[in-house]
Amino acid sequence: MKNHREKGPRKVTAISGPMFADKTNEMIHRLELASFAKLTVQAFKWTGDTRSAADEIEGHNGVRYPAISVDKARDIFQHLKTGVRIIGIDEAQFLDEETPFVVQELSQSGIGVILTGLPTDFRGEPFGCFPILEAQAHKVHRRFAICSYEVSLGEICGKKATQTQRFKDGEPADFDDKVIVVGAEEQYQAVCPLHHRVPGHPRLRMWC
Ligand SMILES: [Zn+2]
Repeated sequence: MKNHREKGPRKVTAISGPMFADKTNEMIHRLELASFAKLTVQAFKWTGDTRSAADEIEGHNGVRYPAISVDKARDIFQHLKTGVRIIGIDEAQFLDEETPFVVQELSQSGIGVILTGLPTDFRGEPFGCFPILEAQAHKVHRRFAICSYEVSLGEICGKKATQTQRFKDGEPADFDDKVIVVGAEEQYQAVCPLHHRVPGHPRLRMWC
């Protein structure tokens, strides 16, 4: 039987979008499909992502999947099972700047990589290495959420949400706030560009 490693690099797939775009569930679904075909798969996430237990990832609807937490992308190599064919990396924007090189090495060694991540942070700025990972990916699935901004009492916007809004003490978080705040869902909302508010943003000041 031919070794799959003879066939060249394996596909890198990026599942990209704001929070509440169901990205983790999409990745779990793809990993499960591969498991049905008896391929060895594994999932990874950053240790600082404490929204779920250290040994699992969890979609917003509560679906869970076993995962290994790593401090840095390169740590993934220490945990690879023999013969692993596909790995998933959840919320890849959180991982360090070496992540694009690690993903390339994994792909070149015959391992398919599925990444989820936010292309932009709460300010609308590029988030970590994810824009580079998207550029490297063989396939990018751009997902969107639904804008849950309350236009008036009881009336929700409902347009396509491409941005992640952060709140601090119930108000839109300032541009100068910390970029990485792994928090409860109450701190975040998916919004369309019109309803994305970032007080102090040098380019969006007119909206605030
Ligand atoms: Zn909206």
